[in-house]
Amino acid sequence: MADKSIPIIKYTKLFINNEFVDAVSKKTFPVINPSTGKKIVEVAEADKEDVDKAVAAAKAAFEQNSEWRTMFASSRGKLIVKLADLIERDQEYLASLEALDNGKPYKNALMDVGFSVDVLKYYAGYCDKIHGSTVPSDGNFMTMTLKEPVGVVGQIIPWNYPLMMLAWKWAPALAAGCTVVLKPAEQTPLSALAVAALAKEAGFPKGVVNVVPGYGPTAGGSLVKHPDVNKVAFTGSTEVGNKIMEVVGQSNLKRVSLELGGKSPLVIFDDVDVDEAVEIAYGACFANHGQNCCAGSRTYVQSGIYNEFVKKAAEIARRTKVGDPFSDATDQGPQVNQKMLDKILRLIESGKKEGAKLQTGGCRKGNEGYFVEPTVFSDVNDNMTIAREEIFGPVQSIFKFDTLEEVIKRANDTTYGLAAGVITNNITTALAYAKSVRAGSVWVNCYDAIAPQTPFGGFKQSGMGRELGEEGLKEYLELKTVSIKV
Ligand code: NAD
Repeated sequence: MADKSIPIIKYTKLFINNEFVDAVSKKTFPVINPSTGKKIVEVAEADKEDVDKAVAAAKAAFEQNSEWRTMFASSRGKLIVKLADLIERDQEYLASLEALDNGKPYKNALMDVGFSVDVLKYYAGYCDKIHGSTVPSDGNFMTMTLKEPVGVVGQIIPWNYPLMMLAWKWAPALAAGCTVVLKPAEQTPLSALAVAALAKEAGFPKGVVNVVPGYGPTAGGSLVKHPDVNKVAFTGSTEVGNKIMEVVGQSNLKRVSLELGGKSPLVIFDDVDVDEAVEIAYGACFANHGQNCCAGSRTYVQSGIYNEFVKKAAEIARRTKVGDPFSDATDQGPQVNQKMLDKILRLIESGKKEGAKLQTGGCRKGNEGYFVEPTVFSDVNDNMTIAREEIFGPVQSIFKFDTLEEVIKRANDTTYGLAAGVITNNITTALAYAKSVRAGSVWVNCYDAIAPQTPFGGFKQSGMGRELGEEGLKEYLELKTVSIKV
């Protein structure tokens, strides 16, 4: 039975060295319920001094003879599995925290928790399978390579999938043997603190995981600048991704991986079942209220089925139940905060002004909380603002096209390259598109087919590096070559 009561908030302090502590400054910041706009709770606000403490703890935990570094690789794997089991045990509590804090429907939050468990278990299995190789080098040498943890890792995550982003970051880092300082998004710090308590319960040695809620430029910025942080892993906006590269270039050249924004094209050819295509396109665009870095927010429809598709896309969007995340009936909760609500409404207005045809939605829903009507525009052209800017909200833009060559060019006409989709029954068309589109993930006759095993990440300004799969593990490893004279 799903437990859908409003959760009690148990943890509101910073988690450093396996203890919950106040910020050095004693400052706190409010966490807001996006369904009401009212404060849920105050959470300790980390700044530079707190990040220094957390990094020192993570550095000590990474010392050569520490409990963590000397633990058998297989024991490390068991510890990660234990954490996954505890998350599973508390899944209803964690899902209700996500629904409260982020606003996503409880039933969807429960799926996020399940996926997080899967990702932790997937990487747990890697711990004792991280092999180097032997190399037939010239000369009288026996040469081998060792794969070693990169060290202390600073991880900065966004608010759209708070728990899942934590799992995507912690699982490969811990499997590799790194220690971690995580800064959750200021909008959604609650589930990360609850999982920190579970890491302690699982038995992770002190300092291996640390959580420092706070704001981007202060807590996040301090982590990015810190000379004892060996790698930073970031998910969020392209704008902040750029800033991180600058700071890293001016500090200690730490390793960097970035998962940034997107404006992903989903292309639908006229040989398909229109109802099925409408449904896939709806999920691609509206999942997680459109707050999805790989959202298929540019829907390209071939002219033969264009009118029918537009009519049906508007119908399905109109049927979306927008409301209380804790109600079973709800498909779409509020957007995360006032800033995102304002941004989405501004972009919707630009669509109207620039001549796109509003088929449904187009307004804020209600006066309380940050709800937006699911919105569908047709007759969108490639130069409109809604065609180019990432909206990160429940807004679908439908474009008309005629030929494969034309649509590949238009799909690629973006600074982003995170994901792309195609729906067609013609295998040649599907493969030609998959080969030509400049994106890190391409989905054929489906969308968002993301699994723990599948590498995920961006071309162009959608980022660098990959998460998930074996590629995701490599981001947390250094390669060492050892040559022995024989
Ligand atoms: P953001 O990039 O500002 O924030 C993401 C994380 O980075 C947060 O934890 C934030 O505190 C931190 N941060 C902000 N400034 C920082 C700095 N100077 N140094 C270090 N860390 C910093 O994203 P946002 O404002 O929450 O959302 C804005 C846009 O970002 C959205 O409209 C969307 O386009 C994009 N976004 C993308 C993803 C994704 O999954 N790729 C997720 C969330 C948001």
